[in-house]
Amino acid sequence: MGRKSTFQSGVHPDDAKKLTAASPIRRLPFPEEVVLPLQQHTGAPAQLMVRVGDHVERGDMIGAAQGFISSPIHASAAGRIVAIGPWPHPSGQFQEAVRIRVDRYAAQIPRRRLVPDYENLSREKLVAAVKEAGVVGLGGAAFPAHVKLSPPPDQAIDTLLVNGCECEPYLTSDHRVMVEYSERVYLGIRIMLRCLGIRRAVVGIELNKPDAIEAMRAALPTDLDIEVRTLEAKYPQGAEKMLIKSLLNREVPSGGLPGKVGVVVQNVGSVATLAEVFETGLPLIERIVTVTGPGVREPGNWIVPVGTRLRDLLAGSGGLAEDASEIIFGGPMMGLAVASLDTPVLKGTSGVLVLSQEETPSKTVYACIRCGRCLDACPIFLNPQRLGKLAMNERWPEMVDHHLMDCMLCGCCSYECPSNIPLSQLFAMAKTALRR
Ligand code: SF4
Ligand code: SF4
Repeated sequence: MGRKSTFQSGVHPDDAKKLTAASPIRRLPFPEEVVLPLQQHTGAPAQLMVRVGDHVERGDMIGAAQGFISSPIHASAAGRIVAIGPWPHPSGQFQEAVRIRVDRYAAQIPRRRLVPDYENLSREKLVAAVKEAGVVGLGGAAFPAHVKLSPPPDQAIDTLLVNGCECEPYLTSDHRVMVEYSERVYLGIRIMLRCLGIRRAVVGIELNKPDAIEAMRAALPTDLDIEVRTLEAKYPQGAEKMLIKSLLNREVPSGGLPGKVGVVVQNVGSVATLAEVFETGLPLIERIVTVTGPGVREPGNWIVPVGTRLRDLLAGSGGLAEDASEIIFGGPMMGLAVASLDTPVLKGTSGVLVLSQEETPSKTVYACIRCGRCLDACPIFLNPQRLGKLAMNERWPEMVDHHLMDCMLCGCCSYECPSNIPLSQLFAMAKTALRR
């Protein structure tokens, strides 16, 4: 497998991927209803373009991007709009959402549309096509892809890093994309390189995915400067700053973005989705979701329309096991527990994890014993113990002086803390309080 790259600190949780790592991607039948929140991405929510009673076809735009850092939303199924209003969102809040009653007799064949000819479009038109298609990062934060592909003129980008780490335990959707759709990933890389006007890409894959490494190396195009590099399986290897350090030995400065060191990072799922836009002309209306954990009967990797409700996703996965206890959107380290089975899959939902009672015992929180394990674990060398103390006393502004805003809420400190202090949750609360 060659040399492995890595970064300092971080943690080694059980990757728990065997439940679904070998499960081929399968398509679930269309649900009776899809629910599409207008806020599914970093930036301004999409602006509503439809009314209750409207009929929509699969791929029709229902929400337009509002400004540069925003993204449009498209109907993920043909049907009738039955309601528009607040709806449970994976963030835990209620958000404005469009509910579409899926037409059960429709063939679900999208309207004929022009497939953008990426080889003959200018860079500006390529980026505009990416924006129009509503492509965002599929790894979680859902940052609009067209923004990453339009770096400001003072940033000299030289490398595209393609993140194939999927370092969150349990999740395997990116893993399966690399195994099953490696050529599509390379088409996406080819298009992104054209958008950025550069030639070099590096794909980073953790060593716990040997079949993905093999598939990606076997499909490697010979006419582009692309390298597939292996990385130590360690959490959070896939965090942008860690990946850049591991693969290129460049350090993104505090408060800075990857563009500062000449890099654009995109995960493999997003790259493959971008390629699909240029293969089919269809916008981002479906995605691959890993449904996994001991609390679900038939774990698997499913293609579903964006907006599929949790209850339909779980029903397609054989339902909940008897001892199911907690449902998390995302992985166990950074995911968020959800309280409603009506919560929909968003563009950024890479997985749904159902834990059992055995895995979710209530833990007593003890006082800090100043063991320093959280300091050793923090990949960006913050002082979580100090930050935790400030958070418990609601001393938010002082937390900023201790670089709270650099904290990526990775959860390594909480994972290591023998006193069960929910450090990263406290930091998330502090960030919310400061934003307010
Ligand atoms: S959650 Fe923040 S403080 Fe804790 S380890 Fe991660 S980056 Fe460091
Ligand atoms: S790991 Fe927990 S107990 Fe140890 S220093 Fe950090 S906060 Fe304190």
